[in-house]
Amino acid sequence: MERCVGVEWELEKVLQRFVSYGESSERSLEELLASVTELREELSSHAQKGVPLSPALALMMTQRCRKIRETVQKVASDHKEMHSSVSRVGKAIDRNFDPDVCAVVSEGVWESRNKQQLLYSAIMEHLFQQGLPTVAEELSQESALNIDTSFKQPFLELNRILEALQKRDLRPALEWAISNRQHLQELNSSLEFRLHRLHFISLLSGGPHKQMQALTYARQFQPFAAHHQQEIQVIMGSLAYLPHGIENSPYAHLLAVEQWISIGEQFTRDACHLLGLSIESPLSVGFASGCVALPVLLNIKAVIEQRQCAGVWSHKDELPIEIDLGKKCRYHSVFACPILRQQTSDANPPIKLVCGHVISRDALNKLINGGKLKCPYCPMEQNPADGKPIIF
Ligand SMILES: [Zn+2]
Repeated sequence: MERCVGVEWELEKVLQRFVSYGESSERSLEELLASVTELREELSSHAQKGVPLSPALALMMTQRCRKIRETVQKVASDHKEMHSSVSRVGKAIDRNFDPDVCAVVSEGVWESRNKQQLLYSAIMEHLFQQGLPTVAEELSQESALNIDTSFKQPFLELNRILEALQKRDLRPALEWAISNRQHLQELNSSLEFRLHRLHFISLLSGGPHKQMQALTYARQFQPFAAHHQQEIQVIMGSLAYLPHGIENSPYAHLLAVEQWISIGEQFTRDACHLLGLSIESPLSVGFASGCVALPVLLNIKAVIEQRQCAGVWSHKDELPIEIDLGKKCRYHSVFACPILRQQTSDANPPIKLVCGHVISRDALNKLINGGKLKCPYCPMEQNPADGKPIIF
């Protein structure tokens, strides 16, 4: 973490420099433009009058030209200085992070065409998910790997709706929610109601002359009356304050910007659920997991080397220890029997033995010997009937 902060600190400095550089160069360029325009007007009025250039005006022209040269030089030298602070970020990354991650990665893991295709396909899926379809298309062409992009359609639709929401246009999201009403109800989702509610609120923020329109729109709440009665009462109550402005009333919170942020988040969550997509792309999950796992793996490697037991970790497609990636990365709701190496099912459920070890029922039946069971792990002897099925 300290290392990240170290790099972030340098990055912050660069960003500040960018901002101040942008502001100062814009200011100087505007000043220059103003003075050149003034000069041009003066010159053209001289030309119209047919008067020859006065020495004072000639001097002014020379001065302005010098000023232009100086400003351009200053802008260029400031730009050069920025370059040095950008390169300091690179040095900070090198200083703070160990670049030797190859030690814990199988050699040639990305060499085969098939694996490259998988990698590019994951990158493209990520780009589509991030709303960067043009970058993804470009990558598809440049990689020349002929990647199947049939997965892109739902992402394009999601991003179109999200972009509209960012521009505070609720229509595409409402159309989507209405056409998926049945599925959303099955998910117990309040998305459609919240979209109607937000539309109603945006009508109210238009002022008293929108009152009739808002009242007509309130009919849309009718199908949600049973589940959202209290919320509907609150928004209808806000109508009383419309003449004096909702922003000066106890209902001012209805107009908060956060409403728009949270509706975007809820839409992403529910739509991904319905379309069977993950909210985060597999690439970002893989990257986040790698960030947690990598330091642990590097430490293990250092310990293995120190104790000179190099043969311990020879199969790099298997991890030498279990790595806890935190709650966010727990996905496995299935159980694979460690003895028979097959996924358990309703007919063959996982069984917790008295000692705490878990194996499948099929494995348990196979291991019974003379009415007794010896746990294949600890190995505690026990009565097979004491094992309890567990449900994940
Ligand atoms: Zn056991």
